[in-house]
Amino acid sequence: MQVTQLTGGRGWLESAAAASVHRIDRQLGRLADVNDAGRSAEQANKNRAAWEDYKYRGGPWAPYALGADESVHCKGRAVDSDDWYNDAAAAVWRENGWRQTARYNDDRDEPWHGEYLPENDQHINDPEPAPATTNGDNMITIARWIKTGACYKVGPESIWYIGSQEELGAQQVLYGEMKNLDDVGFRAVIDSNFIPWAVVEQVTRGQVYGTNGRYWSRSAAEGEAGRAGTKRVQSSLDQVAKNLADVKVTLS
Ligand SMILES: [Zn+2]
Repeated sequence: MQVTQLTGGRGWLESAAAASVHRIDRQLGRLADVNDAGRSAEQANKNRAAWEDYKYRGGPWAPYALGADESVHCKGRAVDSDDWYNDAAAAVWRENGWRQTARYNDDRDEPWHGEYLPENDQHINDPEPAPATTNGDNMITIARWIKTGACYKVGPESIWYIGSQEELGAQQVLYGEMKNLDDVGFRAVIDSNFIPWAVVEQVTRGQVYGTNGRYWSRSAAEGEAGRAGTKRVQSSLDQVAKNLADVKVTLS
């Protein structure tokens, strides 16, 4: 079995099923919801034992589960997803070949469980979009500065502070995987895009442009400077890290 890791830390699937989920991401414009994807034999057998304990021996409730020899999760072709509770999202999964195969009129019912059937996939021959590194989007980096935990979308002379997991998911669909960067890596991204360090602090604090003050670009700044008089902003990586110590930047 050829295995592919899903983006966004969502686990693994058999490669054809993973390619389908990544197409679903693009069609939804966000990361498809994945609670559980590929599963090890050990985990499947553990889940089966929990189910049997519940069903036959009065143990605590556990969802219906097949053992490793039968579970499609172990073949990397099943995903448990809350998108099935959302009609529009469910329609996208269906169009891409996924079916709810564990619907029962009893306590085995698992509406969240979907399996990939390539013969039903209407998008299986869709051309793959060029990877983010070979098209115009390679100007954009989703960067998380490890020192502060803050996450940014950075492009030429522009920076956007990403304040939530949901926003991060959408941005990763558009611009590729987030990179976790130490000081050296983060400095390289900020400096090579000609972004003043003081601006990194300002967008994190929501003090600049855009509806929530989290966006800065050179052109917006120059427009502002033209209106309000030029104000030089100077700082350093160390100074900004220190200044941001009091700002809660964890993705929520
Ligand atoms: Zn499942």
